[in-house]
Amino acid sequence: MIKYKLICKSCELSFDSWFASSQEFDKLKKRNFLNCHNCGSSNVIKTLMAPKLMNKSSDRNYLKNWKSNSVKEKIKEYQKFIKDNFKFVGENFAKEARIIHYSDKKKEKGIYGTASKDEIMELKEEGISAEIIPWTKDNRN
Ligand SMILES: [Zn+2]
Repeated sequence: MIKYKLICKSCELSFDSWFASSQEFDKLKKRNFLNCHNCGSSNVIKTLMAPKLMNKSSDRNYLKNWKSNSVKEKIKEYQKFIKDNFKFVGENFAKEARIIHYSDKKKEKGIYGTASKDEIMELKEEGISAEIIPWTKDNRN
């Protein structure tokens, strides 16, 4: 479905209308089937405004964009939480994680840092809980 903003040239009323496709609009226009809601004139044109496409893929894109925006906000909050509550160990993450895991003393703070995917896999195989979290670059330590 395509939504067009139409303008009546006779009375300058503008209104939105839905069409199955841009071809359908052209067809209806040619046959003078497009009438102004207000004065009944068939002198109706579509404005240059970009049509709003309402097919599934554009819905998905819209949702994706919307989601990624809110995800970014979540990541920022998450990063702040981690920075406040976890110790930054940089590239020693895998090493530090093992030290914590294999030492008996309880650490009061969790750690965060950088690790490769392979390192994370290894840690998981050893039963060490580690999560990969997205990290936005502008906030990087
Ligand atoms: Zn009109």
